[in-house]
Amino acid sequence: MTNEILESMEFVPDGGALMYRGLRYMLIRPETFMWIQKSVISKVGEETASQIFYDVGQKAGNMLVTYFCHEMEMDPVDTIRYLARLGAQLGWGRVEIESLDPLHGTLEIEVSHSVFAEEHSFSGEPVCHMIRGVFAGAWSRVLDYTVNGIEMRCRAVEGPGPCRFVFAKGSLDSTEANLNVK
Ligand SMILES: [Zn+2]
Repeated sequence: MTNEILESMEFVPDGGALMYRGLRYMLIRPETFMWIQKSVISKVGEETASQIFYDVGQKAGNMLVTYFCHEMEMDPVDTIRYLARLGAQLGWGRVEIESLDPLHGTLEIEVSHSVFAEEHSFSGEPVCHMIRGVFAGAWSRVLDYTVNGIEMRCRAVEGPGPCRFVFAKGSLDSTEANLNVK
């Protein structure tokens, strides 16, 4: 399988910049990201920290779908499938879409080898807030209303196996009920 991002990535030596489809990217080691996440947790607590990273992910997901729709003229629902492929190409883990239902506004994904979970030590709480946020923001943008996401299973909590995320309309507390998750 080819990695479109790596093949299309441009290095601009003068600016010290990596460009992909006109957007600037940077490479970061997972441990550096985890130091940031753990540092924020130590300063503001688990709950607020998870919200911060979730919010950041949402902004990124929203922005990416807008870009895919306007600049690449993609069908909005297709952007979610595209985003799943990009996630793997960025090294975030292998993203599989388990269900995608625009009519009811629900989305379920599984991420094998989430880089966030594998970089994190054992945790009592799910840790893949960026993945959860990116897909919540993207799915909200596709549907044109706010959906929220829950990480139902995280490798950092439960050990080997994929992380599992569900997204639906409403508050985080009601997302699970909306999906009839068993
Ligand atoms: Zn996880």
